Amino acid sequence: MRIGNGFDVHAFGPGDSIVLAGVRIAHSRGIVAHSDGDVVLHALCDALLGAAGLGDIGMHFPDSDPLWKGASSSHFVSTVMEMLKVRGWIVGNADITVIAELPKLAPYRLEMRRSLAVLLGVGENQVNIKGTTTESLGFLGRREGIAAQAVVLLAPKPAQ
Ligand code: MG
Repeated sequence: MRIGNGFDVHAFGPGDSIVLAGVRIAHSRGIVAHSDGDVVLHALCDALLGAAGLGDIGMHFPDSDPLWKGASSSHFVSTVMEMLKVRGWIVGNADITVIAELPKLAPYRLEMRRSLAVLLGVGENQVNIKGTTTESLGFLGRREGIAAQAVVLLAPKPAQ
């Protein structure tokens, strides 16, 4: 078994929605990012890569590469999952925390969980997504952006 963790932050900017865990969520702001700025999937990619000893998301999908401009971050996760598959790893579970004052995640939690389960090729009971705030402290508390932390466990793929 291997454990990995990931962390990501993006600033809010002009716009009327953000993408979290591959789900578009209505918000009074958008996200400043080279890709779609999905902090959940970026933190998840780093956790997966970290668990497998494969570096980080910036190594594999550099934000200087025009190929990734406006890219859907689900593509990053799918690519990382292919890398894990060829190395014989499957996901045991993933636990994710989103840190922001707004938007409120409760109405989207089931959809985000379903989206993550599909991307990771696991059951919904192997994925958990939590929301918290910083009690109005710091840049997240001032609603300047949004952060996510991810922890994943990888297990060897069972022999057929
Ligand atoms: Mg990012």
